Amino acid sequence: MKILKSIEDVKNFVKPLKKADTIIGFVPTMGALHEGHLELGKNANQNCDILIYSIFVNPIQFGPNEDLDKYPRDLEGDIKKLETIGVDAIFFPSVEIMYPQGFLTEVYVKEMSKVLCGATRSNHFAGVTTVVTKLFNIVEADKAFFGKKDYQQFTILKKMVKDLNMNIELFGVDTVRESDGLAKSSRNMYLNEKERKSAVLLSKALFYVRDHVSEFSNSSHMLEVAKSIIESDGSFKIEYLDLRECETLKEISDFKPRMVLLVAARIGTTRLIDNIEIEMD
Ligand code: AMP
Repeated sequence: MKILKSIEDVKNFVKPLKKADTIIGFVPTMGALHEGHLELGKNANQNCDILIYSIFVNPIQFGPNEDLDKYPRDLEGDIKKLETIGVDAIFFPSVEIMYPQGFLTEVYVKEMSKVLCGATRSNHFAGVTTVVTKLFNIVEADKAFFGKKDYQQFTILKKMVKDLNMNIELFGVDTVRESDGLAKSSRNMYLNEKERKSAVLLSKALFYVRDHVSEFSNSSHMLEVAKSIIESDGSFKIEYLDLRECETLKEISDFKPRMVLLVAARIGTTRLIDNIEIEMD
């Protein structure tokens, strides 16, 4: 497994592969890898000849009061984990390489970046779409793999790729969960024992309303039930709990054949997100 630190390193690694029509799979991450991140690579390995991960804690997607400085970093541990699934190369650039002095450009998907997480994290998605565009241009992969855990992120990136005619195919991978249902996240390590126990309420609410959707008179009823489960032990403060169209993330008031229920909530100082796709028969 090669560790590529400069853009030139990546170009030299990729050039002969492109010439040989090798199918390159790409998994962008911020490191502190867990099984969710590894699942993306496993999917990639089934669909591609070569697999490249990037590990880059992207400063421009963090707000001024967010956890950029304390975001977990563990390159050695990450390398060991990636070795277990068969990864060909890791792109591990510095901030200076990605954003040299004088960097000015931003890629921004309108409307969709302002809602849900974008309502409180105002530059977050512009930071994500900008860094992912750069990574796509550097790595020149054929297919890229993202987690549906970050449903809004994946939806925005699909829109960006379509609107800008980017020459890459995106795949969304189902959320990997702990045995009690909590979505795996690098931020779960911020939770203390009590918070960790209560954190299960988020996924519990989502699964409950998905499984009982036919019993709700309307969407407000469904949202009320989900809210009452999440808030049942007083640990969570809900930031949003919204039912949206899957492809556009537009708000919906009536049930549709396909919908997604998305939630962000704070427990102590930790902000967790989760979502579930819901289909009506
Ligand atoms: P991050 O390092 O948090 O930016 O995540 C990198 C990629 O891993 C993103 O595409 C995430 O959606 C994905 N990911 C994170 N957690 C999970 C999970 N529990 N299941 C599946 N994919 C995930």
